[in-house]
Amino acid sequence: MKYNLHSEHIKQRLFWSMVIIIGSIFFISVPLTLSSYKQYQESKNALAEISILKNLTDLSNLISRERAPTNNAMSSSQQTLPKTMLELQKSRIQLDKKIDETIQILNQNNYSKLADQLEYDLKVKLKNARETVDHYIESPPTQRSTKQFDYAIQQMYIAWGAIRQVLENFMMNSTGKTSELSNYYTIILLLTDLRDQAGRVASNIIAPLTYREKMPDENIARSLQTQHQANYLWNLINTLQPEELKTEQYLHLHRQVKEKFIDKSLPIVEQLISDSEQGVPYSFTAIELTNTLIDKYATVVRLQAYIINNCIPHVQNENNKMFRQFILSIVVSLISLITALFTLIYARDRIFVPLIEARQKILMLASKNNDGQHAEYNDTSISLFEAIQRLHSRLQQRDILEFQLHNIANTDALTGVSNRLALEQYVKLLDSHTEKLQHTGLIILDIDDFKKVNDSYGHIIGDQVIQFVANKLKSNLRTSDVIVRYGGDEFIIILDSIDAKDTVIVADKIRLDISESEFVIPETGKRLQISVSAGVAVGATTWKELFDRADKSLFKVKVKGKNAVSE
Ligand code: GH3
Ligand code: MG
Repeated sequence: MKYNLHSEHIKQRLFWSMVIIIGSIFFISVPLTLSSYKQYQESKNALAEISILKNLTDLSNLISRERAPTNNAMSSSQQTLPKTMLELQKSRIQLDKKIDETIQILNQNNYSKLADQLEYDLKVKLKNARETVDHYIESPPTQRSTKQFDYAIQQMYIAWGAIRQVLENFMMNSTGKTSELSNYYTIILLLTDLRDQAGRVASNIIAPLTYREKMPDENIARSLQTQHQANYLWNLINTLQPEELKTEQYLHLHRQVKEKFIDKSLPIVEQLISDSEQGVPYSFTAIELTNTLIDKYATVVRLQAYIINNCIPHVQNENNKMFRQFILSIVVSLISLITALFTLIYARDRIFVPLIEARQKILMLASKNNDGQHAEYNDTSISLFEAIQRLHSRLQQRDILEFQLHNIANTDALTGVSNRLALEQYVKLLDSHTEKLQHTGLIILDIDDFKKVNDSYGHIIGDQVIQFVANKLKSNLRTSDVIVRYGGDEFIIILDSIDAKDTVIVADKIRLDISESEFVIPETGKRLQISVSAGVAVGATTWKELFDRADKSLFKVKVKGKNAVSE
């Protein structure tokens, strides 16, 4: 395993880890938040759109509705004209107000194109239709004709066509439209069509009816076609309305359209067409027909209002849901970001910074020279593991040195055997293991008449004699046996797990070896006869007891005549 963990690397890696982790969180949370914000905005748009849609359908229905007072004014006699004109004026003022209001709402909601369509298309077409109507009304009765009447009605259709176009464009450009909302929109659009077609069933025959003339085939064809379309749309709406949304109220309103409009109004028109075909007087006048049918269309408008109102809570719920999702995605993103930041800060403070400091200390320790000076510990090129390796080598060196120092402290400089300091440590060990002491053999060995050697040949030769005896001890003993230079010419030998007999044998073997060898003075070549005496003791409860016994034994030997071993 090779990790080049340099100080700069630790900082850099921490930095890049932070960048990657925080980057990843951003990578996930930013699109998530943006997409939920977009969905929230769309659902907000849907809410605004519903209110615009409500305005546009109201406007469309008002345009369809204006045909009723228009027809009445155009069908009026001179006596009833002031009254019907007043109603028409009222209707026109209401419609104009609604148009301006809708233009304002569209502009406020960034639908200026649609607002322009109302301003420059609908208003123009409506003005044109109204002028045609007014021109017809202002013309003397002798100059009026069925065709002019019918033409004026068709101009009103054209005005309605303009708002229908705006509605269609609005739905196509809708941004908040989901698939569910689309269905609502379609039904609302079809109901607008149904309201208009329903009105046209009567409007298409109103001109010949006013003139009590036979209905031209074209008018009958148009009326029948609109009847057919009204029926078709009524059925289609029920098909499109999802089953789960067919509430009791919806079913009631849908039935009302059937009962009041389809079942009651259409037969009246059929009756009038039949009157015309049979050449009998019409059973209704134009004004009677208009006034009978006008409230029947309200059923369609009520159904439409129900669908729109039902749609609002649905969109509102969706909007609330999207808002919650948006907030949730922000909260989740923030929590992830904060958690990551805190984790990284924690890792920096509790792991990386201590690691860098530890590395610095290791480097410092590793770079210490033997004289204790620091060198190159700021060297960033050294990796943490190299520093540990260096420290390891330093510790090894120190162990060797310590071992050497320990040996020096415990070794007699002249002979190389252990000194009294070492003996003290060993005695402590023995005193704490009395069972070991029971089988420990002790030999106290002293050079005989050593003073004479010193006196005759000097201390240097005396030293050489001490070394000569020590060498004899080493060569006659095992390395595991403890040899101690106890005093000037006195040695102690400690033997492990031994009995008295064997200890005496060992001691005598040493004594014999020394006495049989001769020490040769290097400078003169003179041969000296050296002898030693030894006192032996084996097994005791304390070191002191063992030592005293061996010492006494030695004393006995010295008194008896030396060069002997005694127990
Ligand atoms: P004995 O047979 O009774 O032991 O007689 P001895 O002359 O050996 O007497 P003792 O053992 O008491 O004398 C030890 C002498 O060794 C005394 C001292 O001057 C001498 N001595 C002690 N240390 C050293 C040393 O390191 N070098 C030398 N050359 N002489 C030492
Ligand atoms: Mg002596």
